Amino acid sequence: MSDKKHKTSGKYAPANTTVIADSENLDPVYISELQFDRAARYIVDLKKGLIDFLKKPKRTTIVNFPVELDDGSVKSFEGFRVIHNRVFGPGKGGIRYHPEVTREEVVSLAKLMTWKCALVNIPFGGAKGGVVCDPKALSEGELRRITRRFTSELFDVIGPHKDIPAPDLYTSEQTMAWIFDTYDILHPGYNNRPVVTGKPIEMGGSYGRIDATGNGCVYATERFLSKALIPDRLEIAGARIVIQGFGDVGSVAARAFYRRGARVIAVSDSQGGIYRDEGLDPDEVERYKAEHRTVVGMPGTLSLTNAELLELECDIMMPAAVGNQIHGGNANNIKARLIVEAANNPTTPKADDILYQKGIYVLPDILVNAGGVTVSYYEWVQNQANEQWDLEEITEKLKNKMYHAVDDVFSRWQSFVVGEEPAATENATAKQRPHPPDFRTIAMIIAIERVTKATLIRGIWP
Ligand code: NAD
Repeated sequence: MSDKKHKTSGKYAPANTTVIADSENLDPVYISELQFDRAARYIVDLKKGLIDFLKKPKRTTIVNFPVELDDGSVKSFEGFRVIHNRVFGPGKGGIRYHPEVTREEVVSLAKLMTWKCALVNIPFGGAKGGVVCDPKALSEGELRRITRRFTSELFDVIGPHKDIPAPDLYTSEQTMAWIFDTYDILHPGYNNRPVVTGKPIEMGGSYGRIDATGNGCVYATERFLSKALIPDRLEIAGARIVIQGFGDVGSVAARAFYRRGARVIAVSDSQGGIYRDEGLDPDEVERYKAEHRTVVGMPGTLSLTNAELLELECDIMMPAAVGNQIHGGNANNIKARLIVEAANNPTTPKADDILYQKGIYVLPDILVNAGGVTVSYYEWVQNQANEQWDLEEITEKLKNKMYHAVDDVFSRWQSFVVGEEPAATENATAKQRPHPPDFRTIAMIIAIERVTKATLIRGIWP
């Protein structure tokens, strides 16, 4: 089986981490609406009807379907596909297989995709999907049957110009190949390759897709540092880096930081973390992990918990694992100078407020981890033309895309700093609005403005 996640089994990363401090509300829909509201406070003339429209998904598809298991029994599975918005183009977003997938989580992740695509100027809307299942307890044949049946249930919900899935938690290149194959059988006579991205190279996948998110995070970080907001830390070389999560994203980012001369002092996985003050060699960690299924216990390192890792003194902290890791209960203990959100939703709104007060910058997920969807878009473009671009071309395009996105967020931040901010909206007085807003709010402002502007330019139909 080509999915490394099945080979390296262990405990599940919770889809929605629930272990958190005091009374924080971690409902994903609540958090996504709060992040939206925080940005909407700064947008002049944002029509009430558009706010209501953007807070809800455009369409939610819920399917139930039976699958025959290897032992001859039949089990019913529930699956979701949500399109939040399509104003810029077809829906785009991953499909996850996880026992804790919920409709609410899928809705909030679909919204995140809308803002992410708008922020990096990719002509897709936001979408997401999932099947409630326990992939670690399923054989390859069972997973293939679930995937084919789910794809057939979605029949015309997905499509190369309607909605384009991609891999997410516990789905892989192989899953995408099955989706493509099923869709292609059901829709013969067309070039159906662009119906999914994240495919194997042999099936029209793109060079650079697997490394795109991790590398994109590092491009975003180096561009941000060059803006001199952290005066004695203008480049990655020499920076002390901590990375939570050593999977596809975290391990690639670790290597890219290391290549640029950073000291990666700690990394972790779901079992715990390792620390070496003089720095870790990510290739050595990878080799150890491949053999032992965890980074924990690597010779010459100190072991620490994930909670301790997050509180290490460092220049850059990269959460690259699961959501809600930096929260009201630990934000006060964070000693990083910059947080780079490789994971989706790793920081809660309460933590955002505390970090803002402490002067710790947070580069938000919709900006930082957009490299994956960017190269997915390049895959989709290549598939339309039946072309295969080389890695150098893709790397250059990705770097430019990430640099531009950081530049957009930074220049908007500057316009707040020099006082060109919009007047108080009817939703909020100037006093209620932090000045300047944090980078998540700025990224959201840009994304919401782009989506609402495009909606109005298209014209509300009819
Ligand atoms: P992955 O499954 O390859 O790796 C996840 C890593 O996190 C593993 O090392 C795992 O052991 C670790 N982990 C799991 N639970 C943990 C916990 N509770 N504490 C600490 N570590 C834990 O996943 P990935 O593809 O690297 O994705 C990582 C994050 O980045 C996810 O939040 C994902 O949604 C986000 N993301 C990924 C992509 C992409 O292209 N892969 C794109 C955008 C966002």
